[in-house]
Amino acid sequence: MSTTLVFQSDFDSFEEWHALLAPRLPGVRICRMDEVTEPASVRYALTWKPPQGFFAQYPNLKLLVNLGAGVDALVARDDLPAIPITRVSDPDMARMMASYVLFAVLRYARDIPAFERAQRERRWHYLHPRLPSSIRVGVLGLGELGARAAQELTRQGFDVRGWSRSAKQLPAVNCFHGLDQLDGFLGGCDILVVMLPLTPHTQGILDARRLALLPPGSCLINVSRGAVVDQPALTAALASGQIAEATLDVFDREPLPPEDPLWALDNVLITPHMASIAIPASAAAQIAENILRLERGDPLLHVIDPARGY
Ligand code: NDP
Repeated sequence: MSTTLVFQSDFDSFEEWHALLAPRLPGVRICRMDEVTEPASVRYALTWKPPQGFFAQYPNLKLLVNLGAGVDALVARDDLPAIPITRVSDPDMARMMASYVLFAVLRYARDIPAFERAQRERRWHYLHPRLPSSIRVGVLGLGELGARAAQELTRQGFDVRGWSRSAKQLPAVNCFHGLDQLDGFLGGCDILVVMLPLTPHTQGILDARRLALLPPGSCLINVSRGAVVDQPALTAALASGQIAEATLDVFDREPLPPEDPLWALDNVLITPHMASIAIPASAAAQIAENILRLERGDPLLHVIDPARGY
């Protein structure tokens, strides 16, 4: 019986992944779900939001590869098989995310929204540029994406602080950790960048009380998951000006419904969940390597912990 890798994603190009994986995995048949002829031959699955009941079709599944960094939708399922699950962990994905974060932070640090407003009114509006070192940027979540973004922010000369679950050391980043240090961390963020995974512990972690701890007039950038932030509380803080500006790539409902009040706030920049993506050209090698490791019996890389949620 041949060995099969089944691919299931409505967001990614099968042809592109196939072209990159096939030469690295000789002897493995790579096909879409509807092309599987021998379900028992399926040992690997490469998926992004597969349909309910997907896994039960493949009794010999040995490895599940999540086609992205965020595994919240996957680990919340009740039909998850008890096999190793790996995530995409890719420097190019981290670089793409860092570029979004840099764009959003620099836009605020250089007061661009104020100039955009002034231009709409044909108004010359001089604001004296601020030194990056005078601007405190906080990064919530110092994982593969957060640590990279924090590092890029230090290169721009910002006063960078970060917060994670366990203690960390990153060059030029003032590192905080644990729930006990969160309130104090938030009080020192002129710009807050949310880069946490969505887990039972992080869901709604930025509630009305914690949002109110941000200095008045601060800015918030969320590129993680909408549900990490209490969206109605954030909307209220933006409407009152307590939070001056927000760049939001993720929402508690996506697509953001047309009637959502966030659309009407002119201090909010909305992007449609595109801050970063899994990039086949750089991630395929890592996925193939993990499959070969599994076959050799070597430890897998980038394994997620379903119980921890990330
Ligand atoms: P990682 O799993 O590599 O890192 C997660 C970080 O969050 C770690 O530093 C971890 O702490 C910290 N963390 C997790 N739980 C807690 C907690 N309860 N309290 C404090 N800190 C916590 O994730 P990535 O950096 O790769 O990605 C982050 C998220 O970005 C993804 O989960 C996904 O939701 C989102 N994403 C969004 C995209 C977009 O286009 N908008 C694209 C890709 C990802 P520790 O280091 O101690 O474990």
